[in-house]
Amino acid sequence: GYLSFFLLIAALTAYMWRDTFDPESVRGARVLITGASSGIGEQMAYHYSKFGAQIVITARREESLKKVVQKCLKLGAKAAMYVTGDMSDPADPEKVFKYTMEKLGGLDFLVLNHIGNTNVELWNGDWDHVRTLMQVNFVSYLQMTAAALPVLETSSGSIIVVSSMVAKLPSPYVAPYTSTKFALNGFYGSLQTELALKKSNVSVSILILGLIDTESAMNKIRGFTTMTAYPASEAALSIIKAGATRQKEAYYPWFHYFTCLINNIFPFMKDIILSGLSLD
Ligand code: NDP
Repeated sequence: GYLSFFLLIAALTAYMWRDTFDPESVRGARVLITGASSGIGEQMAYHYSKFGAQIVITARREESLKKVVQKCLKLGAKAAMYVTGDMSDPADPEKVFKYTMEKLGGLDFLVLNHIGNTNVELWNGDWDHVRTLMQVNFVSYLQMTAAALPVLETSSGSIIVVSSMVAKLPSPYVAPYTSTKFALNGFYGSLQTELALKKSNVSVSILILGLIDTESAMNKIRGFTTMTAYPASEAALSIIKAGATRQKEAYYPWFHYFTCLINNIFPFMKDIILSGLSLD
């Protein structure tokens, strides 16, 4: 009895996660990637380039963006451009989007990935930091989305939102960051249903990532956790695939789907699941 139930679940899961990605679906696609001067965003820019997409990347550091664009062109991007923007400035999402429209003349994928700087520490009462982080990690996403939705409707395009396991499993030391990711999951989860009700052509994919070995993440979590970090390039590819195949929610690494499932069934196990995080 139990065995056949387990096999049924395994078969359903394998079916659900079968790789249906067709690289042709992103060849020539017009893509805007935020937070692409480093980390996962940079790796996504390289993958899209290998698939022959046309990309605009954005972040604050111009020199880094320039280097990423050069590499994208070498890797085979049909077009690659950058525009600087600071997402803590409420005027910049619109500016970045306008530039993208001027250069690409339309959009197929809006990839929202940037995050503002935050410390890994016990919350020290600094609520004002949460407010500014909300602008960068959340409100700017909505500003880009508001601008892009009419354009994506005409292209049957997609919004890809890079979120985190902390949006499923609230984690210590990163309360401000966690709150911004919860906000993203809440908003884009609602939007998915609203778009379905409107019979919209636009898809929204929410990506739940575990710990990824980007330089910034590794520098921050040192001394806080012994959890394994997974490669940024693989994480980036899984995000692109989930977006291109219009998955509503996807996990990287895949087994975090089960981490969340177990946490939902047995909420009291949260402290055990998070026991890799220590104060010393
Ligand atoms: P990085 O720190 O490597 O990259 C962040 C990017 O955001 C950089 O390009 C940075 O560029 C840009 N950025 C920072 N502040 C601003 C700002 N004010 N305005 C515009 N751009 C800004 O992060 P990761 O690659 O590690 O993370 C990427 C995504 O993956 C994030 O959404 C993160 O939450 C998610 N994620 C990451 C995990 C990990 O372990 N690494 C785990 C789970 C989720 P610049 O400084 O030039 O502006």
